[in-house]
Amino acid sequence: MQPPVRRVTHIELPIYLDFFGGLLATMVGHDIPEITDAIQAQSSKMLHSSTLYLIRTQVELAEKIAARSPVDNPRVFFVNSGSEAVETAFLLTTAARRSNQVIALRGGYHGRSFGTVAATGIRGWSATSLSPLQVTYAHNGYRYRSPFGHLDDNAFTAACADELRTMIETATSGDFACFIAEPIQGAGGFATPPGGFFAAMNAVLAEYEIPLVSDEVQSGWGRTGRSYLGIEHYGVRPQAITFAKGLANGLSIGGVIAEESLMNSLTANSISTAGGNPISMAAGNAVIDFIDSHDLQHNADDIGRHLIRGLKLIAERNPLIGDVRGSGLMIGVELVEHGTKNPAVAETNTVLAEARSRGLLIGRGGIHGNVLRVTPPMTVTRAEADEALQILGSSIEIAGA
Ligand code: PMP
Repeated sequence: MQPPVRRVTHIELPIYLDFFGGLLATMVGHDIPEITDAIQAQSSKMLHSSTLYLIRTQVELAEKIAARSPVDNPRVFFVNSGSEAVETAFLLTTAARRSNQVIALRGGYHGRSFGTVAATGIRGWSATSLSPLQVTYAHNGYRYRSPFGHLDDNAFTAACADELRTMIETATSGDFACFIAEPIQGAGGFATPPGGFFAAMNAVLAEYEIPLVSDEVQSGWGRTGRSYLGIEHYGVRPQAITFAKGLANGLSIGGVIAEESLMNSLTANSISTAGGNPISMAAGNAVIDFIDSHDLQHNADDIGRHLIRGLKLIAERNPLIGDVRGSGLMIGVELVEHGTKNPAVAETNTVLAEARSRGLLIGRGGIHGNVLRVTPPMTVTRAEADEALQILGSSIEIAGA
């Protein structure tokens, strides 16, 4: 089946329902007048300033996001991408703690730069170069394929925290700079830890004074529903938050919100030529205002629950679906072979292709590449969600046949 087509002068272009947002960057949808107007207005005033000078849009955005973040005494530094944001968090925590060792999570993804690739716990993304960072990988709270998966929530989180404690206590080469985690893993396939997970892990980290860095490049700014940051669902206050992607609705943006004492360790490195650029700042301010004025966190929660309910109904009649998980509009559907529960990789590719041919764009993730990622913009309507569910239902049926 071909996606619906639209005639644009002499060529016909397919129209897609975009439920992946170019890797979760299109946060509030395409063609939003408030965002376009803000970008246009700024572009006629000034295009560039660098982080050498404070400009009004930068200060406004820093104040807005700091006020919405669960970080004590927050300070903000802007860069251009998620990789740079995480790299900056490594710079400040390694400097503050005088250590080049970090703890990351299995299945985590943090970027494509030297340090962030090292901290990425997915083999397919590994690099051959030696890294300046030493990385130890902790349990990511993913139940479906975990050896601790049969335990109840409390016992499961206690087992993960015990493993972390043993890891810290048996490390022979000194302290750790930080513990970095995505509250819900993105590229790793939307592994969604149980509610007590980060509190249990953070209690261990606090004993050893290891800062928690919450990488919110995918989960930030309301996507997970109800709160601004994914980590808030876990009732934990991190020492630093990294962000990027959706904040400027697709324009380049990135940054770190960190406790002042940590951020102070950055003074020698506090230059980014295009970081905090006026156009991205204008877009970021407009995105936050748009999310607030349209109560989009509530919409993300509401439509997210609707999508998860619909996907679970599809799962009841199709054994190709092993697990449906997520929060708000970060929804993962893990596809498995019937009986063995082995990752159904070929079938995942079939679902993606079938959905696309019917006019629906979704993503793929997971360390085995067998997880569908369903991440519509926060403006998604119930009618659009129903259309997507209908397309996903038929695509999954075809792939499982
Ligand atoms: N952290 C996370 C959690 C991400 O998902 C990504 C990008 N997928 C990054 C960091 C890196 O961001 P960027 O691609 O903007 O460098």
